[in-house]
Amino acid sequence: MPTPRKIWCCGCGKTVSARLTNGAEVYSGRADLAELPFWRCDVCRNFVGCHHKTNNPTRPLGVIPTPEIKGARRHIHRILDPLWQSGRMQRGEVYVLISERLGRQYHTAEIRSIEEAREVYRVVQAVAKEFPVHA
Ligand SMILES: [Zn+2]
Repeated sequence: MPTPRKIWCCGCGKTVSARLTNGAEVYSGRADLAELPFWRCDVCRNFVGCHHKTNNPTRPLGVIPTPEIKGARRHIHRILDPLWQSGRMQRGEVYVLISERLGRQYHTAEIRSIEEAREVYRVVQAVAKEFPVHA
């Protein structure tokens, strides 16, 4: 058995001992994800993926989100990604700008609550208005 890892769990609202598992357990029916590593909280059953393409393939992407927080992150990316995908801004530039306005380093995978997601959403929305995307 691999050693459990201490990871912040949004569902439990605290740091938990997460268990290393795979996509076959957390995404049954997604054969394409079956072999990928995930850290799961066995209390609330939420989980987080890993930087599996790196040389530290079981390093978690961030905190363990709830489905609600995952949804909120998707809303953020729907307005954030077009900013750099359009070529209007550099990807790194977008993240630096958001971090400056939040007053802390911004990583979507580190968003711990809906309140935090709303704050980020407002900042990203303001940036998107200042740098309009012309499709
Ligand atoms: Zn939990």
